[in-house]
Amino acid sequence: MVDVIQVTNPATGERVAEVNIQSDEEIKEAINRGHHAFQTWSKIDAHERSRLIRAWSAKVQEHKEELAKLMTLENGKPLNEARGEIDYSTDYLDWYAEEAKRIYGRTIPANTGTKRIIVTKEPIGLVAAITPWNFPTAMMARKAAPALAAGCTFIVKPASETPLSGMKFIDYAHEVGIPKDVIQYVMGQGKAVGEIFTESEFVRKITFTGSTAVGKQLIKNSSDKIQHVTMELGGHAPLIVAEDADVEMAAQQTIATKFRNAGQTCVCANRILVHENVLEEFTEKFVAEVKKLEVGNGLEEGVDIGPIINEKGYNKIVSQIEDAISKGAEVLVGSQFQSDMEKGYFFVYPTVLKNVTTEMMIMHEETFGPVAPIISFKTIEEAVELANGTPYGLAAYFFTNDYRVGHYLHEHLKFGIIGWNDGGPSAAHAPFGGMKASGLGREGGIEGIEPYLETKYLSIGGL
Ligand code: NAP
Repeated sequence: MVDVIQVTNPATGERVAEVNIQSDEEIKEAINRGHHAFQTWSKIDAHERSRLIRAWSAKVQEHKEELAKLMTLENGKPLNEARGEIDYSTDYLDWYAEEAKRIYGRTIPANTGTKRIIVTKEPIGLVAAITPWNFPTAMMARKAAPALAAGCTFIVKPASETPLSGMKFIDYAHEVGIPKDVIQYVMGQGKAVGEIFTESEFVRKITFTGSTAVGKQLIKNSSDKIQHVTMELGGHAPLIVAEDADVEMAAQQTIATKFRNAGQTCVCANRILVHENVLEEFTEKFVAEVKKLEVGNGLEEGVDIGPIINEKGYNKIVSQIEDAISKGAEVLVGSQFQSDMEKGYFFVYPTVLKNVTTEMMIMHEETFGPVAPIISFKTIEEAVELANGTPYGLAAYFFTNDYRVGHYLHEHLKFGIIGWNDGGPSAAHAPFGGMKASGLGREGGIEGIEPYLETKYLSIGGL
């Protein structure tokens, strides 16, 4: 009997599809094929690889609506956000289709006239990726696009909750002529597939987006075969509203960064730090905006906040809210839930908490839900200390119109991505990634292709 993964609609609990789990042998076979395909794909010239990746992007755009609906069905995010994710995904394809043609080496002046020094870049080999459910195609795109552009072959295991849109996304690559063994997906439980990837002598790189706990395990396991790693892990983003901020803009942008994907993104603002002199004004404006957000099935028009992906995620959010309330937090809006354990759907209404303190769980753990805890500060130094007081270092946001405060914050915040008066800094043309427990390496921008390349140094003597 073949094992299957049941894919359900998190908004209704209804079954969407069944996906076969591959056996260990089948996954190893796919790795073998990817390894062999590398011998030919890496020799295809960069302009042809670029053309194929651009064609893939165009094909995905042709099917944007269908792909977006599929994504909403399995992930729950509002349809407009799913459409946005398809655009974001093809941005990566477009960007790296161009970067394929810009993989430059260099020459270095030698310290003797009889030598010449040349540095070249070459693709690393077969890349194995593991992706999460919160951005089913975008997290694939930003790994697959630079890998293929560099001349690597690629194999990915999508998250068990949301394999369908990612699989379809890769089918489109095949439809435009990218060979089947150059980009493949395999299905299985994360731990089992992860171990096959890290035990394989053919896999030269592991690229992962997901939780810090799993990332750590993959780093450990990859040490056996000395595989390269890129790790995009958890976050706990602070959002600072300084005394001189444009409060209206800060409130609007906080809505955007806090509630996207029902708060289930690694760069969602998780701790809202507001200067005491603008606390009341900010809170009032922010709460007024939160009250406008519609909760429901992402396929329905006008819905802003979809369901929570599963019971585990829901329980974590509820326990953080309960913990905060038990320690003195005041609920300004939300703290309402709609769930059906039997049917398997879970909604959390957007929640704003006031009088939050550092004793509360929500100030230390990633929430991954639509909850905004507000804490006040007196000085910008205090805000920095609060903001940096976490093992994570992915994204941070601040709102100020004073360039001195802005520069101070930019220089002192220990985060890989910083939004200054900007709640949406992610872009295919910029480096995305975290410091500390948030990961290793960057995806996007000119930095995002380097991890798929080896550097080879040639010294020619006797001239
Ligand atoms: P997760 O449990 O780490 O799962 C992510 C992926 O890893 C899934 O494909 C999962 O497969 C697989 N997996 C699970 N256990 C594994 C193991 N032992 N070895 C190898 N693979 C394993 O993360 P999640 O809870 O679904 O996703 C949310 C987390 O991702 C959050 O912490 C969030 O911050 C982080 N995230 C980070 C970024 C970023 O760019 N930094 C972006 C998005 C999300 P199964 O589905 O089969 O279990």
